[in-house]
Amino acid sequence: MKASEATQLYFENAADKVDLDDRMMKLLLAAKREVQVQVAVELDNGEIETLVGYRVQHDNSRGPMKGGLRFHPDVDLDEVRSLAALMTWKCAVVNLPYGGAKGGICVDPKKLSHKELERVTRKFVDQIHDIFGPHTDIPAPDMGTNHEIMSWIRNQWEKYHGFNPACVTGKPVEHYGAEGREEATGRGVGILAFKLLGRLGRKPKDTRVAIQGFGNVGMHAAKFLHEADFKVVAISDVSGAYYRPEGIDVAKALHYSLNHGRSLTGFEEAERISNTELIGLNVEMLIPAALGGVITMDNVNQIRANIILEGANGPIHPDADRILNERGVTILPDIVANAGGVTVSYFEWVQNLQHYKWGLNRVRQELDHVLTQAFDQVWQEANDRQVSLRTAAYVIAIRRVHRATVLAGI
Ligand code: GLU
Repeated sequence: MKASEATQLYFENAADKVDLDDRMMKLLLAAKREVQVQVAVELDNGEIETLVGYRVQHDNSRGPMKGGLRFHPDVDLDEVRSLAALMTWKCAVVNLPYGGAKGGICVDPKKLSHKELERVTRKFVDQIHDIFGPHTDIPAPDMGTNHEIMSWIRNQWEKYHGFNPACVTGKPVEHYGAEGREEATGRGVGILAFKLLGRLGRKPKDTRVAIQGFGNVGMHAAKFLHEADFKVVAISDVSGAYYRPEGIDVAKALHYSLNHGRSLTGFEEAERISNTELIGLNVEMLIPAALGGVITMDNVNQIRANIILEGANGPIHPDADRILNERGVTILPDIVANAGGVTVSYFEWVQNLQHYKWGLNRVRQELDHVLTQAFDQVWQEANDRQVSLRTAAYVIAIRRVHRATVLAGI
């Protein structure tokens, strides 16, 4: 199944409950604009490399479109299309005044030098600068991109359009970025794990957690959960997974990873296991926070956790999702679980437009407020309708986007 088919299936399951007619469903599903560009750059050795870049703008009925840029070898039009739609539902369920978009370049950024990466980024902006900006579509970081890349994007965009840091979010704090943007997605996962546990009547100290992925999301989620007294027993990155039944000293792991080029290779404070074994660990909570499509029919029966928070976008295949639901596993879906990132992106945009900078405490407080409100609404909707949290989240999102579309006139 293609990534966009999976998103569509989740949409359709919920659309049934909202009473959308077929024409409206078709309208809400289709992207407003899909752009594919050629990004030709000169490499350090003088050779020419031709890459393909995308920006898919899914919906703008609730506001300017918003979504990250992914630099990864698996990026293709279908994946970007699916992620763009996810952004529409994510912004709607959290009630940010945005529509959804996503973009990316099919490239492995680790294989590029720093200068090459900068040239690729600037060339990409040259190709798409006229379709994004503060009031149309605002890019941000995603897999394989970071605050420095956002800084290059802003600088290149401003060469065409003049000063306006709100044209992109996730910038360095020295360059109009928001305090707390970098930690926001992981912190949000942590905040929501805490809320969810409260609803389920459980305690953090009795909750063992396995986190797949120790990048920006997994790392900050692990830190937050560890500090909130959860027992983080397993973490992982591309080098493999690390398991310690008594609980991993997350501060030590963070320190180790940051001092070893953001890799856990050689981390000896825990037993080395495989990423496959991590998925099947005897834990209460599992947090896939790396790639999409990691929980499938092949490994769903190994899962022993009864709570899953989707830190990554689209980590569970719809067939596996159905089985987990039948088994009574509580799944907090991506469009809620990882919405902390785009929420603080929104705060960054607001600060840029108002030329007024918030402190870290304010960012954290408002993030907590936005996510708590969204979570409570989703929980309520799921209980009222007796549906999964995913279906409830989509129902709320679809209702909002539908209403905005109708109010504006088609
Ligand atoms: N790429 C992130 C996401 O998938 C953040 C998007 C944003 O900040 O606009 O939600």
